Amino acid sequence: MIETNALGKRYGDFTAVDAITFKVEPGQVLGFLGPNGAGKSTTMKMIAGFLAPSSGSATVCGFDVERQPLDAKRSVGYLPEGAPSYGEMGVREFLEFIADMRGIPADVRRKRLDDAVGRLNLEGVLEQSIDTLSKGFRRRVGLAQAIVHDPKVLILDEPTDGLDPNQKHEVRTLINAMARDKTIIVSTHVLEEVHAVCNRAIIIARGRILADATPADLEARSRYHQAVSLSTTNVAAAREALSRIADVAAIEVDAQDNRITAFPKPGKPIFAAVNEALKGQDIVVRELALEGGRLDEVFRTITQGEAQEARA
Ligand code: ADP
Repeated sequence: MIETNALGKRYGDFTAVDAITFKVEPGQVLGFLGPNGAGKSTTMKMIAGFLAPSSGSATVCGFDVERQPLDAKRSVGYLPEGAPSYGEMGVREFLEFIADMRGIPADVRRKRLDDAVGRLNLEGVLEQSIDTLSKGFRRRVGLAQAIVHDPKVLILDEPTDGLDPNQKHEVRTLINAMARDKTIIVSTHVLEEVHAVCNRAIIIARGRILADATPADLEARSRYHQAVSLSTTNVAAAREALSRIADVAAIEVDAQDNRITAFPKPGKPIFAAVNEALKGQDIVVRELALEGGRLDEVFRTITQGEAQEARA
């Protein structure tokens, strides 16, 4: 559905996107992660046909974004960062304007508009001007304009940025619903989003791909993966009991809440052993949890490691 081949963008001497190559298959929701300035927006704009590459190529549904721009643009819906412009326009007026710009044939125009309005639940605000809508509704209008021509591919740049937690949840639910019949790239620096909507994640920094994996695989790279954390009234005794477990590699106690975390040796599950070690002793365990892994830590390790290498 989407393919880039050594896709690159330079601004003068500065390389914003450095020969990125990847493929997105039908049904995938790809999270594009990276620190600010990593090159996410630039890459997405090139795929959406809004910015010419300096080198390499990109195709959408088999159409080259430079050589077959009209076919490529027809196949892709794009939500730029921020709110839609034309704030003084009413919602209906704006969507009709976009439908005209997109050259949607008259016989399907009504159906497409109704479909976009229905999917994004915009019925109640059709006559309101975009400027007067809440941020959450404005984002929905942005999503509606991205799907009005019923594209197979959606490219969403920071779709939940600046929204409150309820609005974020709502937009994620809408993205999940659209994922049923569309292939989606969604950029974010909010890591919880990756869990909520993506089945694949690419981490980029300084214009290069540093990781490409499922969210679960990324979490498995965390040092917290399969770690066991617990809170207890008797920290010293618990620590002592855990330190006798052969497969425990390290134990840390949080200075703020006294929570203990036992880290396993690579590939050695320790949950059962921890449970066993705490039993029959004078230790009251208030809570015991198996950690899946922490994406924020993996993200930091991957992107900061790269920055350190670059400095060196
Ligand atoms: P991200 O979306 O990951 O935050 P961007 O793709 O927006 O990153 O930007 C990547 C880099 O390219 C940044 O360092 C940014 O400052 C630079 N950049 C983006 N657009 C331009 C431009 N028009 N001229 C010069 N530099 C730019």
